Amino acid sequence: MRKETIGFKGGFHLLDAYPVSFCNIIDEISSDGALETFQLPVPAKKVEQVIVNLCPTEPWALPNWVILKHKTAAFLAMVKEMQTRYFPDARFSLAINEKEERVVEDAKLFAGSEDWIRAVPLAAKYPQDDPIVLIKVLLGMDVTFGQDTMPLGIVTLDAQTVSAIYEQGIRGKNVNSRYLVLSGTGLRENEIIHVELGTSVKKILKNKVRDADAFRVFINGPLRGKEITDFSYTIDWSVNNIVVLEEKNRKVLFPMFKADELAFTTNMLGESRRCVYCNFCDDICPVGLEPALYYHHYVRGEKHKARLYHLGKCIECGLCSFICPSKLELLKIILECKAPGKNE
Ligand code: SF4
Ligand code: SF4
Repeated sequence: MRKETIGFKGGFHLLDAYPVSFCNIIDEISSDGALETFQLPVPAKKVEQVIVNLCPTEPWALPNWVILKHKTAAFLAMVKEMQTRYFPDARFSLAINEKEERVVEDAKLFAGSEDWIRAVPLAAKYPQDDPIVLIKVLLGMDVTFGQDTMPLGIVTLDAQTVSAIYEQGIRGKNVNSRYLVLSGTGLRENEIIHVELGTSVKKILKNKVRDADAFRVFINGPLRGKEITDFSYTIDWSVNNIVVLEEKNRKVLFPMFKADELAFTTNMLGESRRCVYCNFCDDICPVGLEPALYYHHYVRGEKHKARLYHLGKCIECGLCSFICPSKLELLKIILECKAPGKNE
């Protein structure tokens, strides 16, 4: 049996579980604020390893074809020029979703005749493409979550950043826009947009949100991104996607009878829900932690005790919150436990 190249225990095939299809027209959106320009990353130290991440693991991440345009050879030529100009001493690793067979094939063909680069097909199980997981899988090194890898001489770049370095640094073009994914149940359709840096979320979402009711907006996805309520938030290079979810806070029992009288909000239920000791969070955690344990310490007001159980190993992937049937906000609790006040 083929050995799976997974960085940590388990992982989750979000791409299979939540396939997202996009409208095939790419909307161009101009900025309603001060225009910003892409900043070339300037390594403080000689770079020895460059990881190019072509293995997005979230359904709301930018798909590779948007940047590769189904022309892998042209993209690899860009990588080659970038290597020559900026990282002449570095070894390159291309992490590629193994299901993108054509890209894997082209990359292997290219890498076969070059000694500075290799192509590594990987299972696109979330959170496989987290930089610390990639570093472990590709370079065999353990890096602490949140650690800056630049002092170690390691740089991780996604496809869009490679393209921006090439366009701005090598071709001398001013890069002041980027591709973003818009997806979620709160939108009329899922689409890819090309947007100027500095544009507000308000402008981006204009006429795109369903007429409906309440919705929630997440920058960089609901798992490890953040929810925003101030839509004057502007797009910079760190924004990869915007997810808009329809707020579903009503649960209807027996909808055929007196639905209005029997409607409850999931908020009401959620606030009083308890951990049911199902162990789902424990099973899914890719780094082998026990999120329920943190939850129980947290509700007892003992955040300091949560920190006794390897909390620092948490890579903040959000899978525990995602899987919890009681909808406990485990990642939020974990972040609070990690950053305690003075006497907690
Ligand atoms: S966020 Fe949850 S599932 Fe992910 S590493 Fe941390 S404890 Fe584990
Ligand atoms: S998934 Fe939720 S309900 Fe299940 S053990 Fe973890 S915290 Fe408790």
